[in-house]
Amino acid sequence: SFIILVCIFSIAFLISFLLVKKSASQLRLAQNKLHHMATIDSLTGLYSRNEIVNLLKIEFNHYKSCLGSPAQFELCLVMIDIDHFKSINDNYGHPVGDAVLANIAGCIKTGIRNKNGVGRFGGEEFLVVLPGETTETSQLVAERIRIAISELEFEAGDKVIRATASFGIACVLPSENNYQISLSRADAALYEAKKTGRNKVVVFQVATDA
Ligand code: GH3
Ligand code: MG
Ligand code: MG
Repeated sequence: SFIILVCIFSIAFLISFLLVKKSASQLRLAQNKLHHMATIDSLTGLYSRNEIVNLLKIEFNHYKSCLGSPAQFELCLVMIDIDHFKSINDNYGHPVGDAVLANIAGCIKTGIRNKNGVGRFGGEEFLVVLPGETTETSQLVAERIRIAISELEFEAGDKVIRATASFGIACVLPSENNYQISLSRADAALYEAKKTGRNKVVVFQVATDA
């Protein structure tokens, strides 16, 4: 009877162990899924707004900590907004708008070296964080993406749709103590691009506008 008892306990222990192991792996899967949903935008596959802002905070703090040291680098932000996107939705429908949005997101990602530096900042607005790029090289990157977007073609029934986007660039200034200030300068440059004709790249001019 002792041996039978040991066998019963062993089997019970084994079953409990397997059940706990299965639950733990299900929990891990659920956690991974939740993390993915919280950090990745489902339509574009880019970082969500929270995640790209978190990345910006990290890069901003790194930038500040390196100021004045040999590791000092420049940190530039590019805000991108699709031009007249509402009319694409209005003329061709929301699903076509979604497809255009996702393709443009892919085009932006393709255009930057560090694929992790881009996120969907709002509805049809994107933020690119470029550590190590100067104002001039950021402008080149933005210009390349702008042209690539303008060359995309989307089919909607028998029609071919084209889209353009406007870009605002601001590089963090050593005197800035908050990443939000740099962000609002990039936004101001984007506003300037919209106001002066769209489908263009505008760099925030520190000397004249600050
Ligand atoms: P502007 O050149 O001034 O930026 O004009 P716009 O039409 O792009 O700007 P507006 O802010 O008026 O419109 C943005 C539109 O983007 C309105 C909104 O319905 C659409 N939008 C936002 N998110 C999504 C989305 O996930 N899918 C689709 N299809 N449309 C979206
Ligand atoms: Mg727009
Ligand atoms: Mg917008």
